[in-house]
Amino acid sequence: MQEITYHSTRDNSLKLTASQAILQGLSEDGGLFVPSEIPTLDIPMEKLARMDYRQTAYEVMKLFFTDFTEEELKNCIERAYDSKFDTSEIAPLEKHGDAWFLELYHGATIAFKDMALSILPHLMTTSARKKGITNEIVILTATSGDTGKAALSGFADVAGTKIIVFYPKDGVSPIQKKQMVTQRGDNTFVVGINGNFDDAQTGVKNIFGDRKLGQELDRAGYQLSSANSINIGRLIPQVVYYVYSYAKLLERGVIQNGDPINVVVPTGNFGNILAAYYAKRMGTPIRKLICASNENKVLYDFFRTGTYDRNREFILTSSPSMDILISSNLERLIWLCAGGSDQQVRLFMDQLAQTGVYTLPEEMRGGLSAFCGYYADEEETAESIRNYYRHDGYVIDTHTAVAAHVYDQYRQETGDETPTVIASTASPYKFTRSVLAAIDPKYAGEDDFVLIDRLHELSGMKIPRAVEEIRTAPVLHRTICEKSEMEKAVRKFLRICD
Ligand SMILES: *Cc1c(COP(=O)(O)O)cnc(C)c1O
Repeated sequence: MQEITYHSTRDNSLKLTASQAILQGLSEDGGLFVPSEIPTLDIPMEKLARMDYRQTAYEVMKLFFTDFTEEELKNCIERAYDSKFDTSEIAPLEKHGDAWFLELYHGATIAFKDMALSILPHLMTTSARKKGITNEIVILTATSGDTGKAALSGFADVAGTKIIVFYPKDGVSPIQKKQMVTQRGDNTFVVGINGNFDDAQTGVKNIFGDRKLGQELDRAGYQLSSANSINIGRLIPQVVYYVYSYAKLLERGVIQNGDPINVVVPTGNFGNILAAYYAKRMGTPIRKLICASNENKVLYDFFRTGTYDRNREFILTSSPSMDILISSNLERLIWLCAGGSDQQVRLFMDQLAQTGVYTLPEEMRGGLSAFCGYYADEEETAESIRNYYRHDGYVIDTHTAVAAHVYDQYRQETGDETPTVIASTASPYKFTRSVLAAIDPKYAGEDDFVLIDRLHELSGMKIPRAVEEIRTAPVLHRTICEKSEMEKAVRKFLRICD
């Protein structure tokens, strides 16, 4: 098997193993780690069609994490994709209307982030063991809601780790907030900030970039790492379910081997859709990658014009995990578009940091041709939830609804009837209020937990364990800080003096 190394999008001269890249998270130069090459699937799709999720996960991940032994990787996979998921399929595919919904929300925190965050702690602790690292790993994460809880739940009480999560105090749903502030585990620390997700993410990036702090942490026996979707240990596990969904469509006879499919991905930080693109580059016959945005439609504009422009009003929507103006993972695609030029990427990212805008020159836009961007406004999102519910009783969450609307629009505009997979990124139970409001305004005045029972009556869907648990759980985290005080909060939790 071909050895894959990792380097920064901003410095091609670096050469890290997968386990080094997983441990480090983000490169010191601010760049993201990218594989030296996107490997090709070396097993026939017919064979994959007969495999279960774990077996597929191994076939995909072994090609990227080439410094892991078979035993190490299989061990990580087995510990990740187990009974934490409420179905042995792990990521079931369901046909409703004209689309196949790939339900990525059957894990511990009922959102798609579980797909990667249930394995990341194992990849990290395995990597640390391989490298003989004795420092305690401190996971530092900014969250727009879902990452936070999924990371907390993945890392809680994992020996040799601590986890610190920053969330925008007023930018997450009540249930998301309750999920986080009730997190157990002595190694967990949850902080609300007075600011939005981009502020939280910028603050975290600044802490990572602070060399002086890094040295102090090292002296105190800590090293920082990231569980954000920029970590290659998050991105690669997400490639798996796109390969898996193709294989399952083949197994069910929906497609013949080699037939193309399209995928629609409700997008925020661009991690999930980039994983679909990696699956395509590995040889999975994916034709179009349809990027679905909400009213924060930076990516829609980017795919239409080639200009990325974050200078606009930040809009709070009913799909908060997509309320993002800087889609960090896009940098990896830009790097590919620029033919792997780290110098070009540095230029664009400097422009983004200084002016909030950069433009991909015409000759670099060829790399975007597999993508197209669409968006749904709030009314269209609600309408989509309502329509699917009325059609056959299927209830989708607000993020998935953005994608479902976008899919309808795409088909109307293009007439493209290619079988299509919609990444269904959260359980409707995670965004109960918005989901029920979309179905019928009569639910508006009710308490969140009453709404959960209403949704159950309406849909017949089992109430997930994750939701039952937080009904009565005590609040364990009350810290709130200014966006300028994030470093101070970190120091306090780790007991390091200023
Ligand atoms: C994180 C998240 C998204 C966006 O995914 P990205 O990988 O950041 O593009 C969409 N929907 C839900 C429910 C999420 O939690």
